[in-house]
Amino acid sequence: HYDVLIVGGGHSGAQAAIALRQAKFEGSVAIIGDETEYPYERPPLSKDYFAGDKAFERILIRPPAFWAERSIDMLMGRRVESVDPVAQQVAFSDGEQVGYGQLVWATGGSPRRLLCEGSQLAGVHVVRNKSDVDAMIGELDDVARVAIIGGGYIGLEAAAVLRKMGKEVVVLEALDRVLARVAGEELSRFFEAEHRAHGVDIRLGVTVESLTGDDYVDGVQLGDGEVIAAQMVIVGIGIIPAVAALLNAGAAGGAGVDVDEYCRTSLPDIYAIGDCAAHANSFAGGVIMRVESVQNANDMANAVAKSITGELTAYHSVPWFWSNQYDLRLQTVGLSVGYDDHVVRGDPAARSFSVIYLKSGKVIALDCVNMTKDYVQGKALVTEGARFTKEQLADTSITLKELSA
Ligand code: FAD
Repeated sequence: HYDVLIVGGGHSGAQAAIALRQAKFEGSVAIIGDETEYPYERPPLSKDYFAGDKAFERILIRPPAFWAERSIDMLMGRRVESVDPVAQQVAFSDGEQVGYGQLVWATGGSPRRLLCEGSQLAGVHVVRNKSDVDAMIGELDDVARVAIIGGGYIGLEAAAVLRKMGKEVVVLEALDRVLARVAGEELSRFFEAEHRAHGVDIRLGVTVESLTGDDYVDGVQLGDGEVIAAQMVIVGIGIIPAVAALLNAGAAGGAGVDVDEYCRTSLPDIYAIGDCAAHANSFAGGVIMRVESVQNANDMANAVAKSITGELTAYHSVPWFWSNQYDLRLQTVGLSVGYDDHVVRGDPAARSFSVIYLKSGKVIALDCVNMTKDYVQGKALVTEGARFTKEQLADTSITLKELSA
C-alpha cells in the first residue's frame, strides 16, 4: 500500500513524484511503469537521441540514484491491468495487488498502428519508447529508403534526422498538408517546402492500401496502386490514450479519461494527468481536449501534487511546445484551436518568422520559427488575450514586448 501510487513512469508520472517530495510530502510514494527504464524524456527520441547525438543517460529525467534518495519506490517493468476503485487497489496481470490512498494515472498512450495488410511485417516501426527507437537504429544500416506514414511532428522530425544520415525519405500524408492537426496553413507550407528542399519526397493526400514484403517490409502500396519501395516504414499517426483499465473501472471518458479542472477523474481519489487526460483547457476557450506536450504533463503533475499536499490547485498553465527539424527551431505558445484570423510576422523566406493566431480579435497562440524573441515575448500576449490590429502585430520594427508594454 502506498499513500500515493503513480501509474506510468513517463514525464507526468515522474514529475508528480518529484513535485510531491519538493512540497515536502512525507507519505509513501511509488511509481509503477511498464517500461524497464527509469523515467526519461521522450522528445529526443525523434530528435537527438535518434540521431545518435545524445546518450541515453543524458535524457533521463533524473539520475538513477535520485529516486531512492527521495524514497520513491520504482516498480519498473510492471504493467497495471486493472483498477478497483472501491478496494482502492490496482492489479498486475499476475494478480498481485497494490493498494493506494490516492492514485495518479499517468499512462500516456500507445501509438496508433496501421490495420492494413502487411502492418505486422518486420521493419515496420512506431516512435514512442526508447525500445522503439533502439530497434530502428539497429536496423538502419541495411536501409536505403524509409517511408514515413504521417506528416505530424514526429514523422517530420524523424524525416529530418534520416536525411542527415543520408537516407532517402518519403513522407506519406493522408491530408492535403503536413502538420494539419496542430498548425495553420502557413506553417504547414513552410515545413513542407523545407523538407522538399532537403530532399524529402512529400506526398500529400495519399492513402496507404497495404505494406508489401514477405517477412520484412519492402514497400508501401498506395490507394492508387503505386508501390513505393522502402526497407523501413515508420508509422506516426498519433496515439491511443492508455486508459482502458480506468474506463473499465467506471471512470468517465472516451478518447482519454475525463478530468475536472483539478485533474480529478470521476472516480474518488483518482487523478489523471498528461497525454491521457481529457480536460477543458482554459487556453482553448474551454474546449475539451488532450494536450500531448511536456508542458502539459509537467504542469498537470505540479497541480496535482499541490492538491494532494493540501492546496487544491486548478490546472491553468499557458501551453507551450517545440519541435526541431534541420536547423529550424519551432516554438509555440498558446493553442491555436478555433482561431479565426492570423498574421504572419516576419518573412518566411528569411527562415525566421512567427505566425500569430487570433480569435475574436484576441491573440491566442504564436508559432515561432527561429524567432525565440517573439516566442518569449508573445507569452504575455497569450496570457492576457491581448488585442492589437493585424498591422501592429505584423510590424517587426516594434518588439512584442514594446507592443504589450
Ligand atoms: P508518457 O511520457 O508516455 O509516459 C507514460 C508511461 O506510462 C509510459 O512509460 C508508458 O509505457 C507507461 N504506461 C502506460 N500504461 C501503463 C500501465 N497500465 N501500467 C504501467 N505503466 C504504463 N512534447 C513536447 O512538448 N515537445 C516535443 O518536442 C515532443 N516531442 C516528442 C517526440 C516523441 C517521439 C514523442 C513520442 C513525444 C514527444 N512529445 C513532445 C510529447 C511528450 O513526450 C508527451 O506529451 C509526454 O511524454 C507525455 O507524458 P505522459 O506522462 O502523459 O506520458
